Amino acid sequence: MEEPTHHHLRLILFPSPLQGHINPMLQLAHILHSNSFSITILHTKLNSPDPSHHPHFTFLSLDDGLSQTESSMEEDIIELTRLINVKCVDPLRACLRKLLDDQQVSGTGERIACLISDAALYATREVAESVKLRRIVLRTGGVSSFVIFKEIPMLLEKGYLPIQESRLDEPIPEIEGFRVRDLPAMKTASVERYYQLLTSMVEETKASSGLIWNSFEELEHSALDTLCQEFSLPIFLIGPFQKYSAASSDGVRTPDQSSIAWLDKQEPKSVIYVSFGSVAAIDANQFLEIATGLADSNHPFLWVVRPDLVRGLDSECHELLPDGYIEMLGGRGHIVKWAPQQEVLKHPAVGAFWTHNGWNSTLESICGGVPMICMPFFSDQVINARYVSHIWKIGVQLEGRVEREKIVEIIKRLMTGNEGEEIRKTMCQFKEKVQVCTSAGGSSHNALQNFISFIASSSPLDLERIT
Ligand code: UDP
Repeated sequence: MEEPTHHHLRLILFPSPLQGHINPMLQLAHILHSNSFSITILHTKLNSPDPSHHPHFTFLSLDDGLSQTESSMEEDIIELTRLINVKCVDPLRACLRKLLDDQQVSGTGERIACLISDAALYATREVAESVKLRRIVLRTGGVSSFVIFKEIPMLLEKGYLPIQESRLDEPIPEIEGFRVRDLPAMKTASVERYYQLLTSMVEETKASSGLIWNSFEELEHSALDTLCQEFSLPIFLIGPFQKYSAASSDGVRTPDQSSIAWLDKQEPKSVIYVSFGSVAAIDANQFLEIATGLADSNHPFLWVVRPDLVRGLDSECHELLPDGYIEMLGGRGHIVKWAPQQEVLKHPAVGAFWTHNGWNSTLESICGGVPMICMPFFSDQVINARYVSHIWKIGVQLEGRVEREKIVEIIKRLMTGNEGEEIRKTMCQFKEKVQVCTSAGGSSHNALQNFISFIASSSPLDLERIT
């Protein structure tokens, strides 16, 4: 049998060092590796993945030049991302030059086909061009939020941004179904820098040779149509990635497997799974309201309480729980520091996901067919939540202050009653669409085949042309 033409192609992948960005990049790496590409993962020192979880890949650490204080700025991810874009330019250039030089002399016949970098690492455009390497972008968020990011200059010009408290409920005629409160916001050192970063991300993505999304056409066709009107580059929606590769841990955090043993003991579709991702933080009062609301809901719940979930706390979060809380629950609640989320969302006992609507969590919920209670914190989460609750209608949104009574009410709304029933039905349809689109002949499956041909067919000469 003839060897696949891409058998000797190496792909260099460079994820942004945030959990929600590392996971999908590694999943993509697994998908491409299982299609005969060789994989090199470049990573920063900050949040470096554990190579022992991925023995088939080559890992190269870049000196990110971040000081200890800068690395611990995960709460201000905008400032952190901006710094990485500044500080990684030189080490990345040196690393790529070396890899390209080595391939010339190695004599193995292996060729570096391209760099696949995270959209948030917009500075990679200039670096890839300077070493004449083709650059493909992976956007780890959704298409729907990206097309709103694209409108930021317009939203600034018309005064919708930066968001003013007094205008939160004002509709935005330019974006159907959106109000001012549904626009991206962020607590960061400078909101102007935040909007500038998003605009750079959009512009430098537009200038790439191809664009991959962890999403699927059936979910985001209208945003995709909008995008294609302005972006004349090859676009590949090949997600959800998790459907191709088994849930793989990146080794940055260790999931607590007791979550699954506990779920095994619960009734079908009875459990509320609560997790706000890897970055979002709450204050002590919100923590207490959530704990009490969950207890008062009378539903079993699995709650991820990361050690850094409560802002500015020196002690363990558990110490904030009311006296006798755990005993009072009598096993009805299970609290872990980190859960095997993809497995949790596929578990038959899970009936709802109270989420911050990070894109990975949103997609994982759709893959598991689990309706959502949306409580976005910042940036694209706000847009995703609006899509989930008002456009796709696969969840309900908890708006305003976090209060125990509101929590009890929204859980009831989703878990019982007609509205919840409709939402569950719609979610089931999306889950089936995921199955179809990732099977042979489906849209994501076809897009993956197209992407593989796209990479494999580009001759080394193409690299000369992108200067
Ligand atoms: N996650 C996990 N265990 C947890 C919480 C989160 O494995 O207890 C994973 C989740 O499956 C997802 C990622 O962390 O893949 C979070 O990404 P997302 O885009 O949802 O949010 P972010 O962390 O970027 O805000």
